[in-house]
Amino acid sequence: MNRTRARSREVKRVLVWVILFVMPVRSSLARHATRSASAGQLSENAQVRAALAWFAPNLNWINEQQARLTEIPAPAFQEGERAAAVKTLLSAAGLNVEVDATGNVIGELRGTNEKEIVVLSAHLDTVFPEGTDVKVRHEGNRMLAPGISDNGTGLAALAAIARALHEAQIKPQRTILFVADVGEEGEGNLRGMRALVDAYRSRLKAVVVLDGAGTDHVTTIALASRRLEVIISGPGGHSWSDFGLPNPINALVRGSVRFINTKVPASPRTTFNLGQIEGGTSINSIPYEARLKVDVRSESESELTRLESALRECMAAGVRDEMESSRDRSRGKLEWKVQLLGSRPGGELAAESPLLGALRAADVIVENESRIERSSTDANIPLSLGIDAISIGAGGNGGGAHSLHEWYDPAGREMGLKRALLTLLGIAEVAPEKTR
Ligand SMILES: [Zn+2]
Repeated sequence: MNRTRARSREVKRVLVWVILFVMPVRSSLARHATRSASAGQLSENAQVRAALAWFAPNLNWINEQQARLTEIPAPAFQEGERAAAVKTLLSAAGLNVEVDATGNVIGELRGTNEKEIVVLSAHLDTVFPEGTDVKVRHEGNRMLAPGISDNGTGLAALAAIARALHEAQIKPQRTILFVADVGEEGEGNLRGMRALVDAYRSRLKAVVVLDGAGTDHVTTIALASRRLEVIISGPGGHSWSDFGLPNPINALVRGSVRFINTKVPASPRTTFNLGQIEGGTSINSIPYEARLKVDVRSESESELTRLESALRECMAAGVRDEMESSRDRSRGKLEWKVQLLGSRPGGELAAESPLLGALRAADVIVENESRIERSSTDANIPLSLGIDAISIGAGGNGGGAHSLHEWYDPAGREMGLKRALLTLLGIAEVAPEKTR
């Protein structure tokens, strides 16, 4: 074999390697290019461009709506007045608006294909109780008030995006529902989103949730949680003369000590918290009741079920231990139960879902980068049922959520609005003019 031959064989080998290595890269580049091309097409559509251009000259109007809505109190189960104000805003954006039996405001923008629905939602409720001062103060560019960001930002964006689509006369392919929903926070237990998904489930293709400020994240993983309350009751009596009767607080403490020794895995991350404990009437009385509230969270639904069973077993054992050590069982035994205060199911959006593709494409257009986040939001409900859903911020910056010092700074809001609008249209799609 001469030298030249050997050399050419080596060159060939190198070529084969190059082809083998580059091929998968090229095909993934091609796929990426197609995605960007479709995103590109969306932003090249004249009507979409008109909708995107609506935001800049109307930023003051959007700020004003945000402040006005924030100043209407909306504690859990008292969202009605704020709902009525959002209804007026969505009606002014040309939508058919209804309030459902749960209290959700639903504005419809009918698509050419009514069999498929995409939801854009923002929750109405706040964590602040009745009587909280929600007057908005201004400090430089900042707006300050409880609930200004969570979810004044989402509600203002909901109205602004509906308005932008209306002004640009956009007709989507899939029907879009603009929804201001009730009961997202705490005790609300996602009741608004549950009712909505229940009503539209068979036609629901995707849900985009607007919650708070920012453009840095996209929540695609729904953290599952359960809130449980343990209640133990007994005969009660005098601390001295009735000593020896079974004591519900003793039983609760015995059960709690067992429970907090339960092992939880680091992965899937699982947590528990004994958050509230109450019971008894005075220092010198054997209590007739003791209560404990426990919050459990996990990346895995089965870990939650395991922890809930552990709590029940530990409390049963605590009550048994207390009964066995009591000297006087003649006046009755301890009764106990564990009740479910709330449950948020978990779920996860597939990495290759069209909805995440639409968000990534929107990010390319507005030159943003989003990190994947796991959280407990309205998106939990659709995600737990296998319906594509994400939760994103609606632009600008905010802080101090769930505190009286909550603030919002609208600088950069326009990019967040464009990102949300492009994601929505990326999944709902714009009907070509001739098919209308
Ligand atoms: Zn929120």
